[in-house]
Order: sequence, then C-alpha cells, then structure tokens
Amino acid sequence: MINYHPNNDMLLEHAKGNLNLAMATAVSAHCELCQKCQHVLAEMTQFQADVALSETDNSAQEFETSIDLDDMLTSIMQLTPASIASRLPQHAIVSVKGHEFSLPTAFRQQTDQTWSGIGKISRMRLDTEKSPSRASLLHIDAGGEIPEHTHQGTEVTLLLEGHFEDEFNRYGPGDFIVLDSNHQHSPKTQEGCLCYTVVDAPLHFTKGISKLLNPIGELIY
Ligand SMILES: [Zn+2]
Repeated sequence: MINYHPNNDMLLEHAKGNLNLAMATAVSAHCELCQKCQHVLAEMTQFQADVALSETDNSAQEFETSIDLDDMLTSIMQLTPASIASRLPQHAIVSVKGHEFSLPTAFRQQTDQTWSGIGKISRMRLDTEKSPSRASLLHIDAGGEIPEHTHQGTEVTLLLEGHFEDEFNRYGPGDFIVLDSNHQHSPKTQEGCLCYTVVDAPLHFTKGISKLLNPIGELIY
C-alpha cells in the first residue's frame, strides 16, 4: 500500500505542465503506480483542458472546421491491435548488481546511462535538461545503508522497488517522499531497493568525519 503521495499543489502544477523534467518524471511515475493520484491528476488535467478550451473558443472552432473528421475516423479504424500495441509506451528495463527492474513508462528513453557506485550504493544519473536539480536512479543492495544526513535543499524520493526504513518510517514501492533540511535520517534497506531521487543541493552529513563521506555525498547528489 502506498502511504506517501505528491500533494495537490504538485499534482496541479504537473497537470498544467509547469514541472521540470526531473519532477514531472517523479510525479508521472508515481501516478502510474498510484490509482488515487492517477484519478486526481486525470480530473485536474480535464479541468485544465476545459479552461483552455473555453479561453480559446474561437480558435477551437476554427480548428474543428479545418480538420476532416471522416479522414481522421478512417485512419483510427485502420489501426490493428498489433499497430496499437506498438504505439503504446514501453516500460524501461534496467539491470544493476544482478537484479533486473521494470520501471514505469515515465522513465523510457531516460535510462541509457551507465551505473557508478561505491560499496552497496549504485547510481545512474538521468537527464534533467537545463534544470539545476539532479535526478538519479539509486540502487541500494541488500543490507545497505546511507550515512546519517540532512538536506540543504529539497530531496524527492520515489521508491520503485523494495523497501527501506529510516528513523521515521518504513517505505514501500510507490511511496513519494519529500524531505528538506528539517529531516535528518539514515536510510537502511534489508532486502535492497531501487529509488528515483531528485535533489537540488548536496546532502549534508551530520555524523563522523564528513570528508570521508564526501564521495558518497557526491554519488548520491
Ligand atoms: Zn499517490
């Protein structure tokens, strides 16, 4: 069961198309996994479309008269089930540390990078276009842990597979977790997990000799 969701403001910004690529990927992927948010997003998107149409009523009428509806229907009827299937978005598959994961379609065409890693932590950096925030797939192998840290900016984590726990909670697949400088934690996973993270500033390690942890901080950021 999914316990953590994007808030309504974030869903609305997504419906309006205002989120950057990294955050839009996180919200889209969550909505593929979460029927509740999928439903809310569909309602918001419909509402945005209605508003846009009522604002451009005249141009919409021009558009309707400029397309040939018969032509359009004919080409839709000619689509065979096979050609429809080939047009459906495909899931992205990634392999790391001998595990294979099927990711939500939001990640397709984004997962062609290589993994880098230290110990049980592996990271694949994803494209964020011009945004200053960084997006990664993060795999933590069974028994792995990230040293205690807090966040200088905001960190969004979408848990894709497996579970992890920190001082606050235990998280499962689909959970959409937003943390900032008020949260200090050391996530651990017993079974291993795969997350998608969007971070807009480096992590700040709160224990130990932080210099030693810098390579991990750099890897996760
Ligand atoms: Zn949700």
